Amino acid sequence: MKRQIYFTSVIRQIFLICAISLCGVLLIPEANCLLPQDRGYALGVIDTLSSPEMHGRGYVSDGAWIASDYIEKEFINMGIGPPGSDYFQEFSMAVNTFPDTVMVWIDGKEMIPGSDFVVHLSSSGVDNTFGLFWFLKDTSGIPRPQGDFGMMDISDKVMVTDVDRKEFQGDHFGAAGIIFLTDNKVWWHISDGGRVNDFFSLQMLRESIPENSDSIRIRVNNVFHPSYPVRNVVSVLPGKNDTAKSIVIGAHYDHLGRMGSKVFFPGANDNASGVALILDLARHFSREGNTPDRTLIFVAFAGEEAGLKGSSFFVENPPQPLSDIRFMLNFDMVGSGSEGVKVVNGSVFEKEFSVLQEINSRNNYLPSVNERGEAANSDHYPFCKSGVPSFFIYTLGKECAEYHNTADTPENTPLTEYEDLFRLITDFIQRL
Ligand SMILES: [Zn+2]
Repeated sequence: MKRQIYFTSVIRQIFLICAISLCGVLLIPEANCLLPQDRGYALGVIDTLSSPEMHGRGYVSDGAWIASDYIEKEFINMGIGPPGSDYFQEFSMAVNTFPDTVMVWIDGKEMIPGSDFVVHLSSSGVDNTFGLFWFLKDTSGIPRPQGDFGMMDISDKVMVTDVDRKEFQGDHFGAAGIIFLTDNKVWWHISDGGRVNDFFSLQMLRESIPENSDSIRIRVNNVFHPSYPVRNVVSVLPGKNDTAKSIVIGAHYDHLGRMGSKVFFPGANDNASGVALILDLARHFSREGNTPDRTLIFVAFAGEEAGLKGSSFFVENPPQPLSDIRFMLNFDMVGSGSEGVKVVNGSVFEKEFSVLQEINSRNNYLPSVNERGEAANSDHYPFCKSGVPSFFIYTLGKECAEYHNTADTPENTPLTEYEDLFRLITDFIQRL
């Protein structure tokens, strides 16, 4: 497999050299052949990573593994080498999966997975029919149990409650399962997939289940992997100044994967968009004449959605001491931009944030660069927790409204401010 990838990359490199030479022969300035940022390249990366062949870059049908092979191939094609003998930092994590059967009927009517409902990742498998026990809030927000809840045996029932009922998220009060009702779209998350509960739980669209419904038939097959192999993809572009500290540029490539045989989550904005940006930055800085002063370490992180697993592994096993890293830049969801960007840790690292703002306003790049405080919400967090200054940058704008659902597709990821964000970041890297 590896040999085949290497062979393909040699052919691509020969092709690239021929293409560049042709530009020279025809006396076309190189800039016309190789743009400083390549929107077409970024869109291609997003299309590939969001395609059904990548299975949502999760833990069913080797989705995340296939995606990591693709990213390695991109680094090889650019001629950027690994930190050691190979590009991968492999580790393992526990993860629950639903590889095939995920079916639900309410009063005999079949529900559509991914749009009527999602199964919580910590759910057990189940194949049975249950009565429903309704436990909703009334309009004033006061719980409105059906019957004398607390005195009843509900072990053969499934509780139906509101999505914000936190007390039921860790406890099922003896019910066989729980349905959490949501008013908007259903959305999936996998951060609770490191364990399997002894009950099942679903999130369901309120309008998909009439309030007089009284039975659920459910067939869900789960496969729990106590030690599923995953891997970060790391490359190193040496800078001109080999005594200077380096910069880590990262984005997570994993997403939510598949839920059953019919549904996969493409994750175009989250976070094929961030991977496209860091790969395009790697291409830019690897070109002759663009070599940066500082060494750049590019990392496509695994396991972010499962709880920042890849970035945590990286800071515990860095390719060079963390004290030799000047700064870490993390990109997660950069498909919009009509309202500018948000910079997590902007108010923590004020000096760097003011440089970023100054570059932006001097060049009129983005509508706004907004600061935010600390947040443990993406892969920058293990870095700043370990003393490495870091920013997490994401774009703002209503044009990317889909989040953790099946509509996070390339069509809904317009890269509104891609070129200007790219310029802002390349300028910023040179100022760090
Ligand atoms: Zn993300």
